[in-house]
Amino acid sequence: MQTKDFDPKKELIFDIKVCEACKSCKRYGLTGCCPPNIGTFEYYKKLLKKYAYGKILVEKFILEEESKKMELGKQSSLVLHKELLKERDELLKKGHYFNVILGGGSCKMCDKCTVPCKCPQNRAIPIEATGINVVATLAKMGMWLKFPVHKVFYRVGMILWD
Ligand code: SF4
Repeated sequence: MQTKDFDPKKELIFDIKVCEACKSCKRYGLTGCCPPNIGTFEYYKKLLKKYAYGKILVEKFILEEESKKMELGKQSSLVLHKELLKERDELLKKGHYFNVILGGGSCKMCDKCTVPCKCPQNRAIPIEATGINVVATLAKMGMWLKFPVHKVFYRVGMILWD
C-alpha cells in the first residue's frame, strides 16, 4: 500500500461539483455513509481542514475478469477500510482522539447497511462524498490517477487527526 503524509489545511481540494456527481451513483441516499445521509459539503469543508495531520492510502487492484467486477469492488473497498481502521487504532493508542477516516467507495463494513448508520464507530464515509476532489488532491501531491479505469484501478482512503 502506498502512503503519503499531507497537511489537510493546505492540500485538500474541495469542489461542490463532486457532490453533484454523487447523485449519479446507484447508492445515493440508500446507505448510512452516502449523501444526503451524512454532513453537508460546507460541514466537511470546515471540519476536515481543522485537522493537523493527514495520511493518504492508495492501493492498486487488478481486475482479471470483467465478471468479477462487483466482487472485487467490494473486496478492494474492504481491504482499504480495514487498513484505515488499523491506522486509527494505532492513533487512538497514542492518544490521538480527534480523528476521522474516509474510505474508497461506499462503506461495506456491515452485511446490511442501514440509514442511519448503525455502527458509526466503524464507518468510513467515501472521500468523494465529503466534496473532496480526490483526483485533483492527489495530483497536487504528485500522485496521478488515470481514467477511464480498465484492468487496473486504485482505491484511495485517508485518515486525518490531531
Ligand atoms: S458501518 Fe455499516 S451501517 Fe454504517 S455506513 Fe458502514 S455498512 Fe452502513
